Amino acid sequence: MTVRVRIAPSPTGNLHIGTARTAVFNWLFARHHGGKFILRIEDTDLERSKPEYTQNIFDGLTWLGLTWDEEPVYQTARMSLYGEKIKQLLEKGLAYRAYDTPEELDAMREAQKARNEAPRYDNRHRNLTPEQEAAYLAEGRKPVIRFKIEDDREISWTDLVRGTVTWKGRDLGGDMVIARAAEGEEIGQPLYNFVVVIDDIDMQISHVIRGEDHIGNTPKQILLYEALGATLPEFGHTPLILNQAGAKLSKRDGVTSISDFRNMGYTSDAIANYMTLLGWSPPEPMTEIFTLTEAAEKFGFDRVNKAGAKFDWDKLNWLNGQYIHAMPIPEVTDLLVPIWKSAGYVFDEKSDRAWLEQIAALVAPSLSRLNEAVEMTRYLFQSVELNEDAKAQMQQEGASTAIKAILEAMPSPLTEAATQDVIKQVVKEQNLKKGVVMKSLRASLTGALQGPDLVQSWLLLNQKGLDRERFEQALSIVA
Ligand code: GLU
Repeated sequence: MTVRVRIAPSPTGNLHIGTARTAVFNWLFARHHGGKFILRIEDTDLERSKPEYTQNIFDGLTWLGLTWDEEPVYQTARMSLYGEKIKQLLEKGLAYRAYDTPEELDAMREAQKARNEAPRYDNRHRNLTPEQEAAYLAEGRKPVIRFKIEDDREISWTDLVRGTVTWKGRDLGGDMVIARAAEGEEIGQPLYNFVVVIDDIDMQISHVIRGEDHIGNTPKQILLYEALGATLPEFGHTPLILNQAGAKLSKRDGVTSISDFRNMGYTSDAIANYMTLLGWSPPEPMTEIFTLTEAAEKFGFDRVNKAGAKFDWDKLNWLNGQYIHAMPIPEVTDLLVPIWKSAGYVFDEKSDRAWLEQIAALVAPSLSRLNEAVEMTRYLFQSVELNEDAKAQMQQEGASTAIKAILEAMPSPLTEAATQDVIKQVVKEQNLKKGVVMKSLRASLTGALQGPDLVQSWLLLNQKGLDRERFEQALSIVA
């Protein structure tokens, strides 16, 4: 059997971390079996679907390296197929038109509530006579289409993650709506559970791998497969992603879409790696740091957990740092350039390239997110004001003497060795402690007492001709 799996996002929002993680598992499974990974855009909700969300989904999947194998399928392009299939079910007597008004349905539910029963459709329009139907139509009622679900059915499948799962027909809420209300003979907008089945059959999907939040849809969909005379695919329900409190990760937890993670300075490799670990554990002796291709070699549902996967920011930050630290400097620079630009830093990408690469090399080992470079390198791109600690340092005995002496003895050209020599010379000639000289240098060059390597910072500022004015500015504070 050829493995054909799909990810089926609805373009009603940006690519969500949960959907992306499901995409990862589908992709890994497809690649492991040499199968196909297919993208289907579930855009039947015309009011909430937007082209910019579809673009965000494409961009997010591409950024993560989750390449899809065939042209994306759009549900809106397939409406006539859904209509045909609904007609078939109507003709076979497996579906019917139900004419209940919203008020009647509300009253039914209220009565169920009063009897302490779970809300369900009581199938009251299942066996209407043609005369009853005609009477409802004459009243101007618009029917929905319902698919019959027998209460005494038992539906079972062997889930790739959860093993045997069994549902009773009576727990599925009664005959289910598969198409929204429409005028008389027309067929209204077909709904999720129905179109998914039609598409999965038509696209020859062999394994339906999706989030656990869909587990209650699967028995309904299995009944539809049967009604349509189609072979069942395998089903696998992947564990939910939970926040630290153990609840489903939601918008309230801050970042939830892949583009948010990207904007915060996470690398695509780290996010893809981390998402793989959200619910899957690699077999020994594989480490926790791997590429998607490496994971695909080993991936299988035997190592996917049933329990929800807690999202751990510390672990993600650690992992992201590992990727940044291992990345060649030109690549780090390529990623930092747009971040520096959007911070408003002014530079010339071409003529400043070598300088930018030196900055990247200076800060990369301390980054856990790329965006941390904005604050870390601000003093190299923009003028600085001395913070309180730096000002206090400049008031220390020997501070201005040190800076004045440095200004007088400024080597040209400034090299790493020359900075060391001039520092030594000033310490000796001015009879100062080395600590005072170093701290005063840092305070005046960077405006702070903490930051990246001092000598490298000096060299980088010197390349832009900025060191002399920083020394003068610091002296003006104490003058
Ligand atoms: N559009 C559904 C979702 O985004 C797809 C569910 C499925 O894979 O069947 O949750």
